[in-house]
Amino acid sequence: MTTITTAYRLQPIDPGEADRLRATNPDAPVYTVDAYPGYPCRQCLRDAALGEEVVLVSHDPFTADSPYRSASPIFLHRAPCDPPQDPHALPTQLTGRQLSVRAFDGDAMMTDAAVIAGTDLAATLDRFFAQEACDHVHVHNASRGCWATRVDRAR
Ligand SMILES: [Zn+2]
Repeated sequence: MTTITTAYRLQPIDPGEADRLRATNPDAPVYTVDAYPGYPCRQCLRDAALGEEVVLVSHDPFTADSPYRSASPIFLHRAPCDPPQDPHALPTQLTGRQLSVRAFDGDAMMTDAAVIAGTDLAATLDRFFAQEACDHVHVHNASRGCWATRVDRAR
């Protein structure tokens, strides 16, 4: 398991927002997982297990308006699940995929970006957070564009 410095931490989708998305999208596509890995849940940051159900919804992870603000597709377990217990552990859901990693300042303006192998995520976060302008980072799947998680600088 790769861990990251305690100076920043993973901030997956808020559990209340995940529950709201599950409850308010009755027509969202539901999939019974038939391949592992393949259906990464953005609440628990696990790839759903074979036979589990996931729902595909659109999520806007931005908290400030900016030209970069946009919604992205995400899978969530159809049944409520919990955020990971250790916000400093990088799950294989991230380290096992090609990622687009985007750094933003406090006004949600992009300050840096890279497409990387997931195995390089810890080093990329170190590099981005070493820049004073970097307030937070959004991680996406590089290929399909699904939002994965936000990473926050610890305050
Ligand atoms: Zn989950």
